[in-house]
Amino acid sequence: MRLIDKLKILADAAKYDASCSSSGGKKRDSKATRGIGSNERTGICHSYTPDGRCVSLLKILLTNQCLYDCAYCINRRSSNVARAKFTVDEVVQLTIDFYKRNYIEGLFLSSGIIRSHDDTMEEMVRVARSLREDHLFGGYIHLKLIAGASPELLAQAGRYADRVSVNMELPKEESLVLLAPEKRGDIIRKSMAHVRLGIDEGRDRGAPSFAPAGQSTQMIVGADAASDRDILASSKNLYGSYGLKRVYYSAFSPIPDSSTRLPLKAAPLMREHRLYQADWMMRFYRFTADEIVTGNDGLLDLAIDPKLAWALAHRSAFPVDVNTAEREMLLRVPGLGVKAVDRIVLARRQRTLGLEDIARVTRSVAKCQPFIVARDWRPVKLSDEEDLRSRVAPRVEQMELFA
Ligand code: SF4
Repeated sequence: MRLIDKLKILADAAKYDASCSSSGGKKRDSKATRGIGSNERTGICHSYTPDGRCVSLLKILLTNQCLYDCAYCINRRSSNVARAKFTVDEVVQLTIDFYKRNYIEGLFLSSGIIRSHDDTMEEMVRVARSLREDHLFGGYIHLKLIAGASPELLAQAGRYADRVSVNMELPKEESLVLLAPEKRGDIIRKSMAHVRLGIDEGRDRGAPSFAPAGQSTQMIVGADAASDRDILASSKNLYGSYGLKRVYYSAFSPIPDSSTRLPLKAAPLMREHRLYQADWMMRFYRFTADEIVTGNDGLLDLAIDPKLAWALAHRSAFPVDVNTAEREMLLRVPGLGVKAVDRIVLARRQRTLGLEDIARVTRSVAKCQPFIVARDWRPVKLSDEEDLRSRVAPRVEQMELFA
């Protein structure tokens, strides 16, 4: 098979993986800096088109052949798709060629499982090793780890990659049993634990960085019956236990010839978006996973962002006085982000803040108005849920600025 045909198949097969953000990498100052590539740019584009347009990360699978039969995956054993496999040298050469043509700034490499976990992981590690050692490639490398591969191979992957990730896929063990029977939650978590250990040890020793951009994972949303509350509880556990940098959420979309165990309809993209917002609340606004979902059905409100939903469900906690409230409480005000809150806390040491001062630190002052008191501002009492929603939510959604 021609290389370009392999590339079409294996780039297309990789597009379902959402966990490839490149933010958080550090400049490599090893011998690789005498070579080519830099991973310093953050927020780079993660998409790839086979003709090489507008790409920064070459996002491919080593192979889309797989021993496993995960129901939600286009590459599953029973799927009727064209199969291909790159050699190690082909991936290395493609990465270097694309880099030199300025198409990409790094590589995201995942794979189906062939022969065994270790065999697959070993080939992926060889790609990363060759890029770093033979070609002195200093660009970004994200390796998707094969859960269950030996600790030695996971350690080698961490040595060469900027970021590594193992996909959790589904938040509940029973969903894995149903939809990905060959996968096991305990093995996935064990691999994450090995990575965490490597990252912690590297940091303690001040040794060459081990996966300096950390580890991440992905969860599929809407393929099983798990609620948003279940998903967030699982994320909380993953952040806490394994020090993950990010959990990525990927809305399920039906695949050809899919199993009857899967829903016929795609999960709403807005659900994925709301989960990202809720995840942000846990990581930056100090909400606990249990309190974010306010509805009895365990689902986030798709119509309004979860921070606003929480404020509406806890109206007795508002309004808060921007001149006296604790930082933690200010972080719970819809429309105020971390930077805005820090600027408020700093500014109020100098003077008593009015609404104009708040407007200077946030673009969402209309959003926070019903929830704050300032020197010259006190909201009229809004007690009716519908009233609040209609007065606050439409403006919020138009701006679509989450804070
Ligand atoms: S192991 Fe990965 S590639 Fe293989 S079927 Fe499952 S999700 Fe797909």
